[in-house]
Amino acid sequence: MIRVGINGYGVIGKRVAYAVSMQDDMELVGICKQQPDYKARMAAKKGIKIYASGDEGAFKDSGLEISGALSDLVENVDVMVDATPGGIGIRNKAAYEKAGIKAVWQGGESHSIAGLSFNAYANYGAAVGARYARVVSCNTTGLIRTLFPLDKAFGISRVNATLVRRGADPSETGKGPINALEVDKHMPSHHGDDVKTVMPNLDIGTVAIKASTTLMHLHSVTVELRKEATREDVIEAYGQYRRIRIVSLADGISSTAQVMDIARDLGRGSGDMYEIAVWKEMTVRGRELHYFQAVHQESDVVPENIDAIRAMAGEKDQDRSIGKTDSSLHIGELYENYGNSDKS
Ligand code: NAD
Repeated sequence: MIRVGINGYGVIGKRVAYAVSMQDDMELVGICKQQPDYKARMAAKKGIKIYASGDEGAFKDSGLEISGALSDLVENVDVMVDATPGGIGIRNKAAYEKAGIKAVWQGGESHSIAGLSFNAYANYGAAVGARYARVVSCNTTGLIRTLFPLDKAFGISRVNATLVRRGADPSETGKGPINALEVDKHMPSHHGDDVKTVMPNLDIGTVAIKASTTLMHLHSVTVELRKEATREDVIEAYGQYRRIRIVSLADGISSTAQVMDIARDLGRGSGDMYEIAVWKEMTVRGRELHYFQAVHQESDVVPENIDAIRAMAGEKDQDRSIGKTDSSLHIGELYENYGNSDKS
């Protein structure tokens, strides 16, 4: 059993904790919480051991039982998943270093924190036995998920993508915009360079817009392929990847709202959509492919964290790890029922 601890139990941390608890080769030793809030109470109710990263007195005052501090948790795990807010994870590195454990950070940290940015499809092998890794952000994961299969099947000369990003996560009341579309002040946006931390040879440019929605990101992606391919060829290539879900306007799925409606009905942890939803109605002109994809920012990185943990613990077989993760989280299930009406 791989003993796993989670530092930071927010949007990503609580989902990774759930996913770890679903693995038959992993044990969730405990989570590190800063405050004794409702998330800590819900974790305690599930029987998860809580360690305090902030003021231990606040936990005692709240009546929530804690099992110690971060320094105690790191002594009892093989791998720590750091899901603290971007920029905070670097402050915890010394504690992991001192305890001699492995650590996985999230996309809010920079590539240099681990020297290895990870995506299970694109560079699983690089993480086998690694001490540190960083799972790239939700947007970057979404882009790599659909670009890697295209590169493998047809080759890619160039990519241009416009990212319509969600303004906030559903539980974040303090972020916006509430009623605007806001142009990212960085042009190109950082996402293209982030993709290159995993696919270094890809020629990619990205721009981003923030939108007043909390459900998902929507990407408009234009790819110049090296070999001509039909729409059917592209859909067939994607069919080999369970973490890509083909959806269709013909099935009444025309927005992120319907994609998340499906996610809620799938009955998975937190009503999540781990797969990247790609609209079947893509256009092809010569070697130029254009498609839309929707990215559930709260959950697409979750299976990537599980595969990173397994690779770092020494599992060499990429397909075996991805297969275990997918079946434990029901990834790719009900594919025929949703967005694949031609095959049904
Ligand atoms: P979050 O704010 O929802 O959760 C962070 C958790 O860490 C909270 O429980 C908070 O109390 C705790 N925390 C804050 N300061 C801490 C500290 N000093 N020590 C320990 N814990 C502390 O954040 P999130 O959205 O889950 O993001 C976590 C990481 O995942 C970031 O790197 C982020 O960029 C990345 N990420 C976020 C999303 C997303 O859409 N939310 C998607 C992909 C990746």
